[in-house]
Amino acid sequence: MTTNRYLADVAITCDQNFTVIRDAAIDVNEGRITSIGPQSEAPPHQGTVHDLGGLVMPGLVNSHAHTPMTLVRGAGDGLPLLEWLTKVMWPREGQMTPEDVLWGMRLGASEMLRAGVTSTCEMYLFEESVVEASTEAGIRLVMTPGIISALHADDFGSTDGRLATITEFHKHYHDPERGVTVGFGPHSAYDLPLEFCAEVAAAARDLDALLHIHVCETQAEGMDLESANDGRSTVQLLAENGVLDGRVIAAHSVWLNDADIETYAHHDVSVAHCPVSNMKLGSGVAAVRAMRSRGIEVGLGTDGPASNDDLDLWQEIKFAPLLARVVATDAAAMSPRDALWMATSEGARAVGNRDVGTLESGQRADFIRVNLDDPTFVPVTSTDELIAHLAWSGSGRHVTDVWVGGEQVVADRQCLRIDVERAMAEVQTRGLRLASDSGT
Ligand SMILES: [Zn+2]
Repeated sequence: MTTNRYLADVAITCDQNFTVIRDAAIDVNEGRITSIGPQSEAPPHQGTVHDLGGLVMPGLVNSHAHTPMTLVRGAGDGLPLLEWLTKVMWPREGQMTPEDVLWGMRLGASEMLRAGVTSTCEMYLFEESVVEASTEAGIRLVMTPGIISALHADDFGSTDGRLATITEFHKHYHDPERGVTVGFGPHSAYDLPLEFCAEVAAAARDLDALLHIHVCETQAEGMDLESANDGRSTVQLLAENGVLDGRVIAAHSVWLNDADIETYAHHDVSVAHCPVSNMKLGSGVAAVRAMRSRGIEVGLGTDGPASNDDLDLWQEIKFAPLLARVVATDAAAMSPRDALWMATSEGARAVGNRDVGTLESGQRADFIRVNLDDPTFVPVTSTDELIAHLAWSGSGRHVTDVWVGGEQVVADRQCLRIDVERAMAEVQTRGLRLASDSGT
């Protein structure tokens, strides 16, 4: 039994107590952490020792993304959400082939891994391509195949057929040991009939699978639905239709009232907070503080690279507390620890992967090395300052090495498994084709 031991100047565990270990030793065997603690207390060791120096922490968890949208990155800037979706995004996406999505995901997965994102929760079409590219790159994937009314008219058959397809897909691809879990991704209650959302939710519950849905991203999106239902809120309608009864992650959840937040808490709904996307699209500010104080688990998400535009989750680590503070006019509204928790352990729980997101014995060995030899990490006069530097100044460029399930997938900032140059060239060519073929 070969164990790898990793030594670091400091390990931020992101566990419940936010334990920080100086001169840490982390032992990894068969993809899991078998021991973590100060080097002086480490158990006897037989295998290889890797002296990493620097800071080691759990890999980041992107709790809401549509990563193959690297193919349409930046398109339609400045349009309101509905127009942006219907006039630019969906026409271009309607032209995509499985091969396009494969390249879009290869590029996006490599971008995330290089930024230290080791898990991603994806809502997208062409799910086989997303799985193939993710497995190839070595990123942990929560795949929730998307269901969008506009895109299933001809290419995919009816939405009912889509539900059967996803159930079948779950049978073949759901394999947490291989780093892939499968859920269901109905786009939203404004795009799909409530009764159909209820059917999807029932199918997800039957498989104990995650339901991943956009909820109340913008103020106007739910107006038609709500006025057709005696003014009851979207969240209330989802709850009444049983959509929130299983394991649910609700992306955005910006326009919630107090009763909606109670409903989430009651149904144990978790939330993917996407502050950069919400700011870029002018959507509004989610009441993250209120939700978390009610025990709702909130992860951080980049959303698709068309509404961000990059996949470096460190920006969300910075902007989530900035936004919370600016809205509350209170510098104590959200701490650097809160932001780092949401990007790691809380985000992992939010997407249903409880065995990643912390550095603790028994957890899967998804971890990253952050280079502390950088002007933005100087000076450090206390542990709290180090944590503050990490949250406020940390970025993908500080991440040098990345392991997923104990296997190194980024070394010295280079992706070991994806030819990034080639992926960039492919996405460039394919992105041009999508723009011209869709006439957008
Ligand atoms: Zn989204």
